[in-house]
Formats: sequence, C-alpha cells, structure tokens
Amino acid sequence: MTQVLPIHSSVMIKECQQPGRLVVLTGPSGVGKGTLVRALLQRHPELNLSISVTTRSPRPGEVQGKHYYFVSRSQFEQMIAQGKLLEWAEFAGNYYGTPREPVEEQTRNGKWVLLEIELEGARQVHQTYPDALRIFILPPSLTELEQRLRSRAQDSEEAIARRLRRAQEEINAASEFDFEIINDNFETAVNRIEAALFAA
Ligand code: 5GP
Repeated sequence: MTQVLPIHSSVMIKECQQPGRLVVLTGPSGVGKGTLVRALLQRHPELNLSISVTTRSPRPGEVQGKHYYFVSRSQFEQMIAQGKLLEWAEFAGNYYGTPREPVEEQTRNGKWVLLEIELEGARQVHQTYPDALRIFILPPSLTELEQRLRSRAQDSEEAIARRLRRAQEEINAASEFDFEIINDNFETAVNRIEAALFAA
C-alpha cells in the first residue's frame, strides 16, 4: 500500500513502500543548490540529504560530517578502490563522492534520499539507478551566475574561472534531466522542485 504524507500546504510527497527513491539535484556551482536544498529539507523532513565526501578544504563555517566529510586524496582514492562510493567525480581540482552505504540503507528502508551533486556524478547515478528523479537547476543567465560566485567570496579567481567554464558544460547537458528549473525567483524555484517531487 502507498502512504501519502501531508507535508506542505500545497504539495505532498508519496512515501512509497520499499524501495525508496533517489532524487538528484544538479546545477552549476553558484546556482543556489545549497539554499534550495536547505529550504526543501525544512519543508520536507521525510527527505534525507546524502552527505558527500570531498578532498576540498573546508570553507569558513563548514563542519566535518555536516556539510561534507573532508578527507585527503589518498583516503578518497582508497574509498574508490574499496567500492565505497556510489558515484564520484573530479570537480574544479577536487574529488567529490557519495558514500554508498547510507544511500543504499535508506532507500532499502523506503526513504527518499536527496543527492546534491554535479553532472558527471548525476550521469553515473542514472546508470545505476535509472529510476532516480533528476532535476537540473539553471541560473537566470551566465552573467548572473558569475555575480553570485563572486558575491559569495568563497573561492579564488582561479577557482571561479574553473567553475564558470564547468558551468557552461553543465548547462549544455541540462536537457538530459527529467526537470529543468530556473532559479530566478527563490520561492518559485522551491515550489517547482516540490511539484517535480510530487509528480514523481
Ligand atoms: P562545492 O565545492 O561548491 O561545495 O561543490 C562543488 C560541486 O560539487 C557542486 O556542483 C556540488 O553539487 C558537487 N558535489 C558535491 N558533492 C558531490 C558528490 O558527492 N558527488 C558529485 N559528483 N558532486 C558533488
């Protein structure tokens, strides 16, 4: 039997019996995925965010085990060799990956798991989990994206340039996804993501 959980005044997500569902949220760095994810998690406690592993250094305020598991390159490579990552990719000079075990356990238990990952990882997930719901977040424009990357003042000029180059590549692949959502207005974007989850 399928249970329908009321979770938001306008939108409900079905919590199916086993297995759970994977939701992949992708979009260029700086597009606002993190803020959208926080809003979604607040509104939908039944969504479980996967905490990624990365070799990137923590930014100010980032907490080990909350924002990421920060590891060395050799630790990351060991995790790849041991098959501990569901997907992984190199992005702007660092490794990022999704720990396999928690995702498998949660989906086995009928839970919805949210992955906030870049394009290569999203493609790998599509191979392994063709049923995963894939949502691509677009910026209103590349100029706007550049402004957002600069205004958060978290990355060096070189890192910003790398992220912008990659952004264009990612945007070119947006049509591969089940849903493309423009983050021009925050509330509207959250509502559209909810509608996509509801449609799933
Ligand atoms: P940031 O360094 O800004 O936190 O993340 C850079 C990019 O890596 C973002 O596009 C983010 O979505 C992506 N990312 C974060 N975690 C993972 C992961 O586990 N796997 C993959 N493939 N990408 C990730």
